[in-house]
Amino acid sequence: MKTLATLEPLTTRLLEIQRINSAASILSWDQETYMPAGGGEARAEQIAVLQGIAHQKLVAPDVQSLLSQWVDPATGQAADKAGDTWDEPSRSLLRETWRDFIRAKKLPSDFVVKLSRECSLAQQVWTEARTQNKFAMFLPNLRTVLELKREEAHYLGYHDSPYNALLDVYEPGATIAGLQPVFAALKARLVPLLKRITESRVQIDDSILHHSYDQTRQLEFGRLVLTAMGYDFEHGRLDLSAHPFTSSFHPTDVRVTTRVHEHELQSCLFSCIHEGGHGLYDQGLDQQYFGTPLGDSVSLGIHESQSRLWENCVGRSRSFWRFFYPVLQHTFHDQLRGVDVEQFYAAINRVKPSLIRVEADELTYNLHIMLRFEIEQDLIEGKIQAEDLPAIWNQKTEEYLGIVPPTDAEGALQDVHWSFGSFGYFPTYTLGNLYSVQFFEQAKREIPHLEEEIATGQLMGLRRWLEQKIHRWGRMFTPAHLAERVTGSTIDPEPFLQYVEKKYGELYQL
Ligand code: ZN
Repeated sequence: MKTLATLEPLTTRLLEIQRINSAASILSWDQETYMPAGGGEARAEQIAVLQGIAHQKLVAPDVQSLLSQWVDPATGQAADKAGDTWDEPSRSLLRETWRDFIRAKKLPSDFVVKLSRECSLAQQVWTEARTQNKFAMFLPNLRTVLELKREEAHYLGYHDSPYNALLDVYEPGATIAGLQPVFAALKARLVPLLKRITESRVQIDDSILHHSYDQTRQLEFGRLVLTAMGYDFEHGRLDLSAHPFTSSFHPTDVRVTTRVHEHELQSCLFSCIHEGGHGLYDQGLDQQYFGTPLGDSVSLGIHESQSRLWENCVGRSRSFWRFFYPVLQHTFHDQLRGVDVEQFYAAINRVKPSLIRVEADELTYNLHIMLRFEIEQDLIEGKIQAEDLPAIWNQKTEEYLGIVPPTDAEGALQDVHWSFGSFGYFPTYTLGNLYSVQFFEQAKREIPHLEEEIATGQLMGLRRWLEQKIHRWGRMFTPAHLAERVTGSTIDPEPFLQYVEKKYGELYQL
């Protein structure tokens, strides 16, 4: 049996590449947190140089010749010779490294540079276009980016649709054919459920969340919840940024950010829990595999499942607030004095169709994703043109959410993703939502008294379960295989649908 020891010349190189990537990530983290505004241009150059070096080191001839000894190029799988087979970690490492190598190799380096430059440019124009609410300003850049992404799909190769090639970058193995039935099932039940909620006689008042809350105390509370979740501050930090995110340089240095608004109690609180879920995943990766695919997270969908599990299944549950609400009340005595836990629970779970995805509740969120999934697929396939985007966006928003954006800034221009070429990214948010409920339901089956543990503020049992079942495996299995190992099923909308129908049915007395 051949083991990872055989692969050492390769893993040494991968570790070196990872260290370069980690250095680039620290530069990006700094850019979003502490870098002075004027440093942007120089920083972009620094990061581009490091990314270029990392790319060169991956597609180098010596890597190719090492991989060709061990991988069958026709299948991309570790090649077994008679009587001499690979152990499972080695097989996974070879499969995933080959995947990364081939992808990097398929894209000509002048194309990579051009794409990177055009996306960087488009992102700057998009920022300005959104501020000025001028879609026409962004249109030429969007056309260019779209053209380049179609070209990228062509280089990468695909079945059925060029969109599949792009989707696969973020969620290995995902395809339109696999996702369409999932979204159809969501649409069939979420749209009517939302209609019943908006017509319900139960009206939830969430004004208590918009009183004045001291920002330092909000941060302290966020820190307290992160600590209870098992987020390790010896190997992590909490900082402020405009858009909350998680950044990992090594399992021993995983940083999360949040934002804090005086009149938005939910914002800091739930972004801390959400990013904490991402952070636990990265802190839970197996250090011995650092630098190799086995020490890396498996997909965006699975990553998002971890943040959503903590944010929604735990953080928006009654059990969680049974313990934490008295603590929050103590922290904000004046504001929450007369508000009981039921009122608070209802306020943080209020459903309201809104225009902006990042502000959406857990039910309408998937409808925001669904319209983006449909639109970006049609854009990449050339079924609709870039100039038609605002009209189609508005029409679909009305169809799914019952409201029409009054401006493009609140419509087709709201998200940054397409400007930097991230077509195929959006569906992973919904995959994360669905996986989160699948995983949480399984955790409830396997951890006796999980709800009681949560209700007494003990979150470590859940954290350990996630680490054992998901985090430590890195890319050992494909996302679908991992989900199947943990829950007995690949992606399945049913647990999520039952969860929201039960939760909101009760809350809105449907
Ligand atoms: Zn997230």
